[in-house]
Amino acid sequence: MTADAERKMQFLYALRSKGVTNSAVMTAMERIDRGDFIRGVFAERAYEDVPLPISCGQTISQPSVVGFMTQALMVTPRDKVLEVGTGSGYQAAILSQLARRVYTVDRHRPLIKDASALFETLDLGNIIAFTADGSFGLPDHAPFDRIVVTAAAEDPPGPLLAQLKTGGIMVVPVGQSDAVQSLIRVTKTETGFDYEELRSVRFVPLVEGLGNYS
Ligand code: SAH
Repeated sequence: MTADAERKMQFLYALRSKGVTNSAVMTAMERIDRGDFIRGVFAERAYEDVPLPISCGQTISQPSVVGFMTQALMVTPRDKVLEVGTGSGYQAAILSQLARRVYTVDRHRPLIKDASALFETLDLGNIIAFTADGSFGLPDHAPFDRIVVTAAAEDPPGPLLAQLKTGGIMVVPVGQSDAVQSLIRVTKTETGFDYEELRSVRFVPLVEGLGNYS
C-alpha cells in the first residue's frame, strides 16, 4: 500500500473509533478527500483528526466532528440542506453525497469563491454557495429539511428556526465563542421545538454581518 493510501485508511479508522459509525456517512467521508480542501503547508496534515487553518482566519473543522455532526443531522436523500459556515467547503461536500441539494453560506466572499470553484472541479453539482450573513438563513430558498451551523451561536438563531420544516432537524453549537460549547440538536415539531444536548465542541464564533468582500 502507498503511504498516501495508508494515511487515508488510518483517517477512516480514526473516524470510526471516535464514533462515526453510520455507513452512509462513512461512505461519503471515504469519497470526499479532505486533502482537496486544504491549501499550502497544512495540506500534508489533511488526514490528521485535527482542525486546520484555512484563509480569512478561519478553520476547517476536525473530521471526527464533521462526521459526528453529519450523523446527528440524519440526512435523507430527498433532503434540502442548509449549511451556515462554508469555510473550506468540506462539510458541504460531504453533505452533497447524502442530500438532494445543499445550500451553503459564508460571510467571507473569498471562501465562497474558492469553495465554489472546488465544487465545480469535483463535479459536486448539487451544492449552491452564497456570500451572506447566514444567521438570517436564506429566506428565498427556505424552508429546509435540515440545517447545520458550523460556527458557534449564543442561542440557535431565530431566523434559522423559522426556516426549518416541521419534522426538520438543526444541529448547532451553542455557547460563548471563547469557551467550550454544546452541540445541540433541535427538532421542529407540530407544536414547537425539541432540544437535545449531544456533546461538547469548540467552534469559531458566528459573527454578524459580511466579512472580507474582495
Ligand atoms: N464548515 C467549514 C468550517 C467552518 S469554520 C468546513 O467544512 O470547512 C466557520 C465558518 O463560519 C467560517 O468560514 C466563518 O467565516 C463562517 N461564519 C461565521 N459567522 C458567519 C455568519 N454570520 N454567516 C455566515 N458564515 C459565518
